Amino acid sequence: MAKKVIIVGGGPAGLFCAYLLLKKNYQVDLYDHSSGLAKKFLIAGNGGLNLTHSEDLKPFSQKYIGNENLFYELINEFSPSDLRGFCDDLGVETFIGTSGRVFPKKLKAGEILLKWTKILKENSNFNLYLKHSLIDMDSNKTLSFSSAAGEVKTQADTVILATGGASWKKTGSDGKWCEIIQSLGIEIEDFRAMNCGFEVSWSEHLKKRVERSHLKNIELSILGHKSRGEAMITPYGIEGGVVYALSKFIQDKIQDEGSASVNIDLKPDLSDQEIEAKLQKRKLKDSLSNHLRKSLKLDKASIALLYENSLNITAKNIKCLPIKLERPRPIDEAISTSGGVKFSELTKNFESKAVPGLYFAGEMLDFDAPTGGYLLQGCFSTASRVVKGLK
Ligand SMILES: Cc1cc2nc3c(=O)[nH]c(=O)nc-3n(C[C@H](O)[C@H](O)[C@H](O)COP(=O)(O)OP(=O)(O)OC[C@H]3O[C@@H](n4cnc5c(N)ncnc54)[C@H](O)[C@@H]3O)c2cc1C
Repeated sequence: MAKKVIIVGGGPAGLFCAYLLLKKNYQVDLYDHSSGLAKKFLIAGNGGLNLTHSEDLKPFSQKYIGNENLFYELINEFSPSDLRGFCDDLGVETFIGTSGRVFPKKLKAGEILLKWTKILKENSNFNLYLKHSLIDMDSNKTLSFSSAAGEVKTQADTVILATGGASWKKTGSDGKWCEIIQSLGIEIEDFRAMNCGFEVSWSEHLKKRVERSHLKNIELSILGHKSRGEAMITPYGIEGGVVYALSKFIQDKIQDEGSASVNIDLKPDLSDQEIEAKLQKRKLKDSLSNHLRKSLKLDKASIALLYENSLNITAKNIKCLPIKLERPRPIDEAISTSGGVKFSELTKNFESKAVPGLYFAGEMLDFDAPTGGYLLQGCFSTASRVVKGLK
């Protein structure tokens, strides 16, 4: 008889564990408290599903700040090419975009999910229990679920939890599993919003002028860490790729000092001297704003930010514009969360040291990475390690 494994959580990490286990002829019982599978994955596809990245292993693994060595091993074991190979197996074409990011050809997550779940559901060793919410577990791995039929109990020698992080609760990732895990004596790191926006006390004038305006091709820096790309000024503060990439350092600073000062280089491709030379060429008939727009190609939001700070318009200020970030946006809005099950509580195969036979995969593990496909790759690679390591 096939050996049974219970998986709780039907996001990409749980579904990938199920896919790999069924290939190895295990019986898989998968539980999820939502009415449908992988709701966050589907939402991730709304803006173009960035599955992974094509860069080399070394720079790739360095995106998992604090866990670089672990992820060097994990990504080596189940690589971006392996993830694209999985998509090939599903019959989903992928491509590498100009930025090196990897997307499915149709950009959305729906096609992948449909083909993936079809394979699972057609396997007679697969049982799916939706609308089953894990509410308790003991050290014997007896699990209690609340369901429409009342409380349901089940047990297996091997249980994999892949219940996600703590943002976008409407997708099912509510982080409530923490209490159950802690009651088993397993330590959890507190959740923090990552890949998130931050709040700034803009003047009313700026709010009105540049609401939801883009800052294109800027470089954001904090404590020597730099990120280049786009950001967006919102009425409450700032968000976007460059901010997300530095969210860990910004969060650390806010935690230590109550706020975080970041600097924006509005013209990262120009030197101070080049900017100064362009500033000097202002004609008398040109207003300063017009001159900044025409000669330096500064957009509306950049100019408004310079005025907001009552700064002299100098090359130095254009290349080092300070902004005080006061707090992160609410955790529920964040693209990802750090925190979750500490790696120190787990064996090399992500099995709990306190509760043998209990494994963890995906975003519920205490790792974080910037957007760019690193989050999903992390979920797939941790799931692959769990299944490879099952006794
Ligand atoms: C707007 C947005 C855009 C994103 N874009 C990208 C992107 O382009 N590229 C990228 O790499 N990443 C992206 N991400 C992040 C990525 O979607 C997540 O990292 C990934 O979905 C995490 O997978 P997971 O399987 O670990 O957890 P989840 O996808 O969160 O799945 C966890 C599952 O567990 C279930 N569950 C939770 N608690 C219980 C319980 N008590 N009982 C039963 N079931 C439970 C939930 O219902 C859910 O189905 C994005 C996220 C968001 C919000």
